Amino acid sequence: MPELPEVESLTGFLRERAVGRAIAGIDVVAIQALKTFDPPVTSLGGLTVTGVSRHGKFLDLDCDGLHLVIHLARAGWLRWRDDLSGAKPVRPGKGPLAVRVRLAPDDEGLAPGFELTEAGTQKRLAVYVTKNPDEVPGIAALGPDPLAESFTVEALKRIVGGKRTQIKGLLRDQKVIAGIGNAYSDEVLHAAKMSPFKIAATLTDAQVADLHEAIVTTLRDAVERAHGLAAKDLKAEKKSGLRVHNRAGQPCDVCGDTIREVSFADSSLQYCPTCQTGGKPLADRRLSRLLK
Ligand SMILES: [Zn+2]
Repeated sequence: MPELPEVESLTGFLRERAVGRAIAGIDVVAIQALKTFDPPVTSLGGLTVTGVSRHGKFLDLDCDGLHLVIHLARAGWLRWRDDLSGAKPVRPGKGPLAVRVRLAPDDEGLAPGFELTEAGTQKRLAVYVTKNPDEVPGIAALGPDPLAESFTVEALKRIVGGKRTQIKGLLRDQKVIAGIGNAYSDEVLHAAKMSPFKIAATLTDAQVADLHEAIVTTLRDAVERAHGLAAKDLKAEKKSGLRVHNRAGQPCDVCGDTIREVSFADSSLQYCPTCQTGGKPLADRRLSRLLK
């Protein structure tokens, strides 16, 4: 799933390639991906892309004041195409292609564009056409952006204060902090040497400061690594940069302990016992059920 660093990189990638170009047309292949009907998606045709920005994990293409807002969700991705002029019309219901955005041909006659794809059977990729991106419900509800200057240690202290929830879930909650998902919350907690099950309200001032440092450093490093990469190379870069997420069974590169996993109904988390939980493995309900 693309999280803040990947979406930030896609934002820069699209800004370089799409700004200044007119939209030739948008093909919505997966009709359930389109969440708005007024203004119609066809009204983007002929408008020029004037800016690309990010809100949390949302991509926002400003097209002469009308916005195409994209949320890639869990299994969505963006694929840049240098020339779509020969692309075949797409039939709904076949393959991962959800939306195709065609840009006007350049001087060389190439008609570039991009495609939004979504793998798997759970279709959550979402596209909105709106005059005001702040009216997209997921954007309206976003918490502060961890890369914004206003995201200070004090701000984080206010966020965790009084919250009787586990820190892992709190970090992933887009209404609390924007842009962090399952992968980077694992990475942040490993960097902060903190148990994912720690109750937010119990953090000391020093731990809040460590967590703040871990959030900002982890995300900035990932943004830097992803900067300037082509959309197609982002997934591999994200994977190679992760130190604990999806690395259960491998040695921790800080202490050498074996990275462990806790599984839930539809996700899992990874952590290093020595770095994060005083050497004690966390209870894994799935595992204990298997052992009964
Ligand atoms: Zn470790």
